[in-house]
Amino acid sequence: MRIAITGCGPAGLATALMLSRQEHDVTMFERFDTPRPVGSGIILQPTGLAVLQWLGLTDEIHKLGKRIDRINGVSMPSGKQVLDVDYAALGEGFHGLAVHRAALFEVLYAALRSSGIEINTGIEVVDAIVRRGLVSISDSAGQRYGPFDLLLDASGAGTKLQQHALHPARLRELEYGALWGAFDWPASGFDENALEQRYVRAHTMLGILPIGSHSAVSGDQVAFFWSIKTRSYESWRRNGLDVWKREALSIWPEAGAIVEQITDASDMSLARYGHSTLRKPYGNKIAFLGDAAHSTSPQLGQGANMALLDAWEIAAALRQTSDVDDALRRYAKARRWHVRAFQLSSLALTPFYQSDSRVLSGLRDLLFDPMAKLPIARHVVAGLISGMLAGYGPAGRKMQQITAGATPTERSELP
Ligand SMILES: Cc1cc2nc3c(=O)[nH]c(=O)nc-3n(C[C@H](O)[C@H](O)[C@H](O)COP(=O)(O)OP(=O)(O)OC[C@H]3O[C@@H](n4cnc5c(N)ncnc54)[C@H](O)[C@@H]3O)c2cc1C
Repeated sequence: MRIAITGCGPAGLATALMLSRQEHDVTMFERFDTPRPVGSGIILQPTGLAVLQWLGLTDEIHKLGKRIDRINGVSMPSGKQVLDVDYAALGEGFHGLAVHRAALFEVLYAALRSSGIEINTGIEVVDAIVRRGLVSISDSAGQRYGPFDLLLDASGAGTKLQQHALHPARLRELEYGALWGAFDWPASGFDENALEQRYVRAHTMLGILPIGSHSAVSGDQVAFFWSIKTRSYESWRRNGLDVWKREALSIWPEAGAIVEQITDASDMSLARYGHSTLRKPYGNKIAFLGDAAHSTSPQLGQGANMALLDAWEIAAALRQTSDVDDALRRYAKARRWHVRAFQLSSLALTPFYQSDSRVLSGLRDLLFDPMAKLPIARHVVAGLISGMLAGYGPAGRKMQQITAGATPTERSELP
């Protein structure tokens, strides 16, 4: 098939790689002149890592990242532990891998370049037109491209193509976003295999995530983030760094070795969060993948991993049938429960960590840790953090299929 993909993020890059390996004729469109990663650190969960393994990129990504075994959070000033998740609850060998977003981008992009896929850059795709069963796209300069048998929209949360979904959804901007930056890893004081967070009620949150290195830096790095209302960003800049640094250090004095590396407000970038879920992630000759289909706050850290699962499932659907409409329905069905479960969980849990509510932060401090220590709850919490629920459980058939790199025929023979 002739397949167009919009967007060179994790969803677009992984999908392009898979489909070109299935001998489809893939053409990519990216709005930036030079495709580049946006943001700082992300955790690749066992789900996302399985897809990278399927693509044969395990060694490359592990060389750049830091293994994450635990995620913990402490409420301040009480010092009470309110989050303590251990990947070991899922079974032996499970872990996350924290990477600089540039590292994930580099690994996927390098594989893509060596596959000879055509990438058209500097093209902002704004519309799609279906005629006689084929789809064409148009850009902001009025230029048309195509026709294609199928369009895969992986252009992120701000996609311009959502009106072509069967049931378009509205992107709801969340009140809280975060300031993010990548800095040198401090020699001591932090666990290099854990994401650590500090909270003051739910209005303030700081996080420290070891992210390894990538080609543009020599040593190991750490992603540092600070929760902020997006409308307060300008006043944060106006108040000056010293005021904010004093506040950050009063909450987490040990973070000094990182905070002192911040010398200009532009060292921290503002990330805005929005929430939107397509009920059916497809339309006529078009499928939506990654944030274009489901975006949310990164509190549960699943977005890039869900994008990689989307890539795997659309490729699997296109291996199972050569009928585009049938493939789109199969893709939607395969992703339905996992996407719903994580989008709902993210919506429900984010206000416990990012909101003005005293009640929710009080409940969090009182109940989350004791509840998470109950035998079954430990697994559920680890499943929520790792993405391994709702059809992608650690011992489930789907994860076996992905990690086994099985073809559809082989898959039906799996236990
Ligand atoms: C601060 C922060 C922290 C996060 N932490 C995590 C984490 O720990 N774990 C995790 O799994 N996820 C995390 N996420 C979420 C994750 O980054 C996203 O879910 C993921 O990047 C989605 O991938 P994507 O390919 O769908 O979209 P994107 O990464 O947004 O890529 C979209 C691409 O499309 C291009 N594009 C956009 N519009 C157009 C257009 N009109 N025409 C052509 N090209 C276009 C863009 O330039 C971009 O290259 C985090 C997000 C943020 C903001």
